[in-house]
Amino acid sequence: MSKIIKKFDEGFTLIKDEIENDIPLTCPVCEYFIRTDQDVFYYSQHKCCFECAVKWAEGSNRIKWKEGWRPDSSIIEEEKKIRRKLVTPIRFT
Ligand SMILES: [Zn+2]
Repeated sequence: MSKIIKKFDEGFTLIKDEIENDIPLTCPVCEYFIRTDQDVFYYSQHKCCFECAVKWAEGSNRIKWKEGWRPDSSIIEEEKKIRRKLVTPIRFT
């Protein structure tokens, strides 16, 4: 089986078996991990993670999103800064 190898700016590398579906390792919009069933579901609906779907793909942007519109990279970066503050840091004990 082939492996997916992804290097992250945070300084770690993830190696994962390639699986037989089209769900990527990370959200193509915000590049955060697709890690929950909710993310997988929203990816199948909107081609992005749950957070991006709620923030951008649903509601008033719904039609634009389906047509391929995505937020500006500066807007995505702002959103990622906010999310980073909400994420509990991983602790190694
Ligand atoms: Zn996302």
